[in-house]
Amino acid sequence: MQYRELGKTKENVSILGFGGMRLPTKGSNDNIDEIKANEILSYGITNGINIIDTAYPYHSAGIDGNGNSETFIGKFLKENNYRDDVLISTKSPSWLIEEKGDFEYYLDKQLKKLQTDSIDIYLLHALSEDDWNKIRKLRVLDFLDDCLSSGKIKHVGFSSHCEIDTFVNILDAYPKWEVVLTQMNYLDEYYQTGIMGLDQLKQLNIGSMIMEPLRGGRLVQNIPPEVQKIWDTAELKRTPVEWALEYLWNRDDVDCVLSGMNSLEQVKQNIQIASNVKEISQHDKELIRQVARTYRKLTGNECTSCGYCMPCPEGIDIVNCFKEYNIGKILNNPKGSALQYFTLIDDGSKADSCTNCRNCEFVCPQMLNIPEELKKVDEYFGREFNHF
Ligand code: SF4
Ligand code: SF4
Repeated sequence: MQYRELGKTKENVSILGFGGMRLPTKGSNDNIDEIKANEILSYGITNGINIIDTAYPYHSAGIDGNGNSETFIGKFLKENNYRDDVLISTKSPSWLIEEKGDFEYYLDKQLKKLQTDSIDIYLLHALSEDDWNKIRKLRVLDFLDDCLSSGKIKHVGFSSHCEIDTFVNILDAYPKWEVVLTQMNYLDEYYQTGIMGLDQLKQLNIGSMIMEPLRGGRLVQNIPPEVQKIWDTAELKRTPVEWALEYLWNRDDVDCVLSGMNSLEQVKQNIQIASNVKEISQHDKELIRQVARTYRKLTGNECTSCGYCMPCPEGIDIVNCFKEYNIGKILNNPKGSALQYFTLIDDGSKADSCTNCRNCEFVCPQMLNIPEELKKVDEYFGREFNHF
C-alpha cells in the first residue's frame, strides 16, 4: 500500500480508502451482511487501508434516513480493536439541518453510532449552493470552531457535487478547511468541479479525497467495443480498473481515492493496484482522453447508481432503469438491455410508472432530472420490445 499526506491535516493516509456506502447487503440496502462486511474490511485494514469513509444516511431504508453504515463501522472497529488503526471520515447531513442545534444533534448521534469520542474527518455532506447558504445562516462555521476546540472533530471539510463557483465561495469562506471530497475520474475532468477544483485544493494545501473513481462501475463493466479497441493500442496493457485507479494516482493533486468495495475480490484487486502504481506514459494518457471522448458520445445519462433517490414512493426502480438504459446505449444493444429491463424489473417499478410527483427532485448528486430521464428510458425501450 502506498501513502500520501492528506494536505494540511498532515495525516499519512493510504491512497486507497474504504468507502462505506456500498457494503455487502442481504436483500435490502439497509440490511448489511455483517459477516461479509467484516471479512472485507478486516482484509483491507490488515493490508494497509487506514481510512474508512461513511455518512449519516449510508445504508438507510429511505432517502433521508438514519443509515446503518456508521452503526456497523462503529461496531466493527470496536469489536476488532481497530479504532486506533484507522481514520474515520463521516459527514454531517446538511440537508436535514433546520436549526442551529441540529448540527450538534446529528454529530452526537454519529459519535454514538461510531462508538467513538472524536471524528477524525468531519465533512459537511454534499453541499449545494442552497444548502451552503442555509447552513451558513445557521452559523455552521461557529459550530465547526467549537467542535475543533472541544476535540469532537479533528479535521473539517466538505463534500460537494456543486459547480466551481459555489465550490470556490465555500473554500473562501473558511480558512480552517483541511479536507475536501470531490467526484473525479477520467470522464469527469470537466464535470462539476473536476480538475479546476483539484487545482484549487492543491494551491490551498487542502487534502483531496476522491469519490466515484469508477463512475459507479461504468468505467469497468460492459466495456464498449469502441473503447476496447482504443485500450488495445496502449503501450502498457491495463485492466479497466487499473486504467481508472492509476489515472487518479498518477495525479499529484489526488491524495486518497475512496472505493465502495463490496467483495473480497475487489478489495484484493484494488489493494494490489494501490501497492504498485505504474506511471502512465504520455502516449497512454492520450488514449485515456480518447476513451473519455468515446464514452461521452455513447452514454445515456450520468447516473452513478448511488441510490440516493431510492426508495421512490411509487416503487420505481430508478437505479436499475437507468442502469439498463445506459448499458443498452453504451453497447448499442437496446434489445439486449430491453430483455433485462422487462424481465428483471417488476411491472410497476419500470420507468412508465413514474407519476412525476417530484419527490426525488434535488436529491441526485449528478443533478439529473429523474422523471425526465425516466421518460427517455421508457421511450428508448419503447413498446416494440415489450414482448419479453
Ligand atoms: S418523480 Fe417519479 S421517480 Fe421521482 S419519486 Fe416521483 S414517481 Fe418516483
Ligand atoms: S439518479 Fe442520481 S440519485 Fe439516483 S441513483 Fe442515479 S445518480 Fe444516484
